[in-house]
Amino acid sequence: MDALGDGMAAPSQTSAKPMGGTPARGGRWPLLAQRRPLVLYLVAIVALDLAAIGYFAATTRLAVADLATFLALTACGAVCIEATRRLGMPAGVHRDLLSAWWLPAALLLPPVYALVAPIPLQILLQLRVRATVAYRRVFSAAAIGLAAGTASVAFHARVADPGELGLGTGWPIVTAVACAAMFTVLNTALIAIAAHTADPDSRWRDVLWDRESLLLDAVELCLGVSVAILCGLNLALLLLALPPVMLLQRSLLHAQLQAAARTDPKTGLLNAAAWQREADTEIVRARRTGEMLALLIVDIDHFKRVNDTYGHLVGDQVLIGVAATLRSQLRDYDVVGRFGGEEFVVLLPRADVAEARRVAERLRTRVGRMAVPVDDAMITVTISAGVAIMNMHGDDLIELLAAADLALYRAKELGRDRICLPATQNPPTDGKPATAH
Ligand code: GH3
Ligand code: MG
Ligand code: MG
Repeated sequence: MDALGDGMAAPSQTSAKPMGGTPARGGRWPLLAQRRPLVLYLVAIVALDLAAIGYFAATTRLAVADLATFLALTACGAVCIEATRRLGMPAGVHRDLLSAWWLPAALLLPPVYALVAPIPLQILLQLRVRATVAYRRVFSAAAIGLAAGTASVAFHARVADPGELGLGTGWPIVTAVACAAMFTVLNTALIAIAAHTADPDSRWRDVLWDRESLLLDAVELCLGVSVAILCGLNLALLLLALPPVMLLQRSLLHAQLQAAARTDPKTGLLNAAAWQREADTEIVRARRTGEMLALLIVDIDHFKRVNDTYGHLVGDQVLIGVAATLRSQLRDYDVVGRFGGEEFVVLLPRADVAEARRVAERLRTRVGRMAVPVDDAMITVTISAGVAIMNMHGDDLIELLAAADLALYRAKELGRDRICLPATQNPPTDGKPATAH
């Protein structure tokens, strides 16, 4: 798992908010531009890691066999990184399966090896895959090292001879699984604390687990313990473990790249092309089943003024906030995307006129209540939306988009902060005194 790649790259707010630091200092030393509590936390974790490395290095007797196992595991990690390098690495959230190599180090070798194992691989990632701000890599190495080191200490306290892992007896394997789980929990917690300190507004649930990452954690655990057992049997068996792990790593990366290609990086919503594909599919389905379907185009009112008054970075925060509000107010099967600039599109399968109006009105109210804090001020924005209903205002995506766009234009003309349907059909429903139209 790449520690900060998981947690802190995800909220793009991290770079948008100066977080109490001065941008000038941040230019040369990006760490110093972060919030003070975050800097303290990162420094404390790295210091703790260095202290642990120092302590265990001083108290561990160097054994050639241990060193050979360590080098072989590190070499496997390096081969995995090189083998997936050309696929690239999606920006923001990403996962890898490198713990398949440092978990065996934690289980089979004295704790000092687990503590240092992430260092060469993080250096390789930085040099060969993607250069990111150095403090993230350093923190990743420290967080993984501490988590693996703790798991290692716990394992060795219960299993006197780690070689027993290769014998296939129950107790060492059960203990190994428990310690691997401990590694995952600790690593996730260390990263989640960093992500939450970087962005205190983020919800703990979001920076901890979702279903997908739980599944990946389970895969990592299985791989790590299996590789440790193979390695305990015979170091040469790593040659059998390497190809399947490499293949898994490639397909994992491929899936993440595919997801990244569908997503608008700023808001996390679908991008225009992906939204259009999904909307087309829904429209074909609605036509086949005869179900209703509605389409909304949502546009932030006077957004240019936000940019002009507070700057583009704050404008981006507002965009992110509006996107999150829209997503939180919609059902899982509603298709929401960023159409471009400050415009969003929403497809509501199975929604009739009344339902579409209700949803659009709810979105308008919720966005209106949302406030983005900036220095001493709270920024609020309103939205206008055009609504079009399948079979009423258009039969395919292009017609529906054109109808909703006309309706949006009307909403703007009528004074903004309102919902409109195309002119020929229905009066605007804006929750306000009726306006001439
Ligand atoms: P209206 O109520 O008529 O929609 O007015 P408006 O100011 O919202 O619309 P206009 O089309 O004049 O301006 C849209 C602005 O959105 C201009 C552009 O700079 C800004 N914008 C587009 N994309 C982004 C973005 O990704 N980030 C930021 N911060 N601003 C953006
Ligand atoms: Mg606008
Ligand atoms: Mg616009």
